[in-house]
Amino acid sequence: MMKKILLGCLLWCGVTTGSMAIASDVLPYWHESPSKAQIIDFVTRVTDPTSAAFVPVSDRIAVFDNDGTLWSEQPIYGQLAFLMDRIKAQAPDHPEWQTTQPFKAVLEGDLATLKHGGTESLLPLLAATHAGMTSDAFRETVSTWLASAKHPKAVYRFLADELGTTRVQFNPAVEPKFFKESAPAKIEQSTKPMQDSPRAKPDHPLSVVTPWTVDPDDYGTFLSGVWDEWLATDFGRVHVNLFETAIAQAAGLPAQTCTQAEICGKGLAVEHDGEVFSCDNYVYPQYRIGNIKDTHLGDLAFSKAQESFGTAKRDTLPKQCRQCDYLRLCWGECPKNRIIKTRAGESGLNYLCSGLYAFYQHIGPDVVRILRHLGYLKT
Ligand code: SF4
Ligand code: SF4
Repeated sequence: MMKKILLGCLLWCGVTTGSMAIASDVLPYWHESPSKAQIIDFVTRVTDPTSAAFVPVSDRIAVFDNDGTLWSEQPIYGQLAFLMDRIKAQAPDHPEWQTTQPFKAVLEGDLATLKHGGTESLLPLLAATHAGMTSDAFRETVSTWLASAKHPKAVYRFLADELGTTRVQFNPAVEPKFFKESAPAKIEQSTKPMQDSPRAKPDHPLSVVTPWTVDPDDYGTFLSGVWDEWLATDFGRVHVNLFETAIAQAAGLPAQTCTQAEICGKGLAVEHDGEVFSCDNYVYPQYRIGNIKDTHLGDLAFSKAQESFGTAKRDTLPKQCRQCDYLRLCWGECPKNRIIKTRAGESGLNYLCSGLYAFYQHIGPDVVRILRHLGYLKT
């Protein structure tokens, strides 16, 4: 019975693993709750050889249902993208797939036919791509796919075409592991990793950021891919503030975004009790600038403390930024993300630096062309 239930979950979620070990820090990101306790109790019982509920490794199929909270759902689920890419990769060994549904639909990128077939049409695809291999082989396949599956164009087309939005803002997900305890500028210098080191990437166990933080190089690849698509099809129609800010700043105009501006400090955070902080990324005791019950918000916004916060964005940049070719476009991005050291060991470099640099390098020739076209540059 246990096996049947688990198998049902497998078909639903398409995620398998051969074994599950209970470690001391299981579910570290879950709040303490009855659900968490029940899950841990269940897994403990089915993996304990002395328990009556023990399930041998060979009979185990463990499934994680995350209620979609970890899935990107648009334009398609990541799991479906994986499945489709695997079918395409395996197709040379299966010439019959060219004329057999649902494989034909996958090979032709025909999502409408695939959707029309419903869940049942996914089963042969799942069997062809997820069965008959060990957990280690499956993990290896997924890791290889994850490292190569980049879809900036698909994401952008979804936003611009399917959602029909004409204003797009990309906010990189960067979450320092210590954000609950300390403001970025107050982190102990010795704990900051150097640019390009393994700890300055999200997938290292001792990384400075949480695992769901975007990889800096992936961020640059994503922005560059979206820029190419946007420039080719939607320039002037869809407003991507990061892109338009880069063009504006290259023309000597102000940034639209605080993160790319020379100084910041106009995004104060007011809490429910009237407490005011320098920015909603800086709700820490050291960045409290007052309370609107005592002081007018305008006076707080133009206070010395807030002015210092804003100018620190420029004045605390490391030498690598001050000498960077793209300083006037980037300005070290948001100080919240300055949690690593430069290659020379100086503190205060932005975690996203390598991606930002690659992006600005990528768009440079296009920006020059645009500035010429707009009359900001002669010839
Ligand atoms: S700290 Fe970052 S988000 Fe806050 S105002 Fe400055 S640049 Fe903007
Ligand atoms: S690209 Fe990197 S080095 Fe250049 S200004 Fe931005 S964060 Fe600094």
